Amino acid sequence: MRILVTNDDGIYSPGIRALAARAARFGEVFVVAPDVERSGAGHAITHTRPLTFRHTRVDGMEGYRVDGTPADCVAVGLHEHEDIDIVLSGINMGLNLGNSAWHSGTLAAAKQAALFGCRGIALSTPAEEVDPDFDAIAPYVDQVLDLLIDDTTLELVNVNFPRLPSGITWARQSVRHYDGKIVPGTDPRGREHLWFTVYPLVDPEEGTDRWAVEHGQVSITPLRLDLTDHECLERARREHPIPED
Ligand code: MN
Repeated sequence: MRILVTNDDGIYSPGIRALAARAARFGEVFVVAPDVERSGAGHAITHTRPLTFRHTRVDGMEGYRVDGTPADCVAVGLHEHEDIDIVLSGINMGLNLGNSAWHSGTLAAAKQAALFGCRGIALSTPAEEVDPDFDAIAPYVDQVLDLLIDDTTLELVNVNFPRLPSGITWARQSVRHYDGKIVPGTDPRGREHLWFTVYPLVDPEEGTDRWAVEHGQVSITPLRLDLTDHECLERARREHPIPED
């Protein structure tokens, strides 16, 4: 098996080394990742200038660091390395639960793989107060990869590891609330600014990714690229038929 490993925290993040080490059990690993942190880059691509890439070994594995976004890195990686079977993105230092899927560069890399017809798995763990203990979650990373890697029907998957997991569960995306907000403040010279940040969400619905992680479970959420609301589309077609001319 040929595995492309990427992330949005940058090629020097401990998270990508932890993931590449676990992935190496399944086959040949190629690392292609941003040269600096691109967290929050979402699914942006760079198309107004060329991308540069430089050879970088990651714990003995072949790698390139790219001056682009996570999605760029997947495009570069799939171009440079033929016959990649799966793209793994992470392990992100920060959870990607619920609506953060819209902003996440980690998940965007997995989505970019899926756009190219390759399977993509995003993996994330919290990194707020203390650094993640990648050795502690390694057995769960192994279990998750054992579960997902051979099932070719799972094309796009988002996985979140609590700091110290006690189990693994399938979960849906928690979309009831959005945690982004603007917080006004002042800089050291008294000038006003606005900070786009997130606030902690409480009371997640049972069965969701956020609920799972709050209860110490690793959440596994299969996703799809089709954003169409099929139910809404059918109803709209019935209720608002558009006359042909
Ligand atoms: Mn990140």
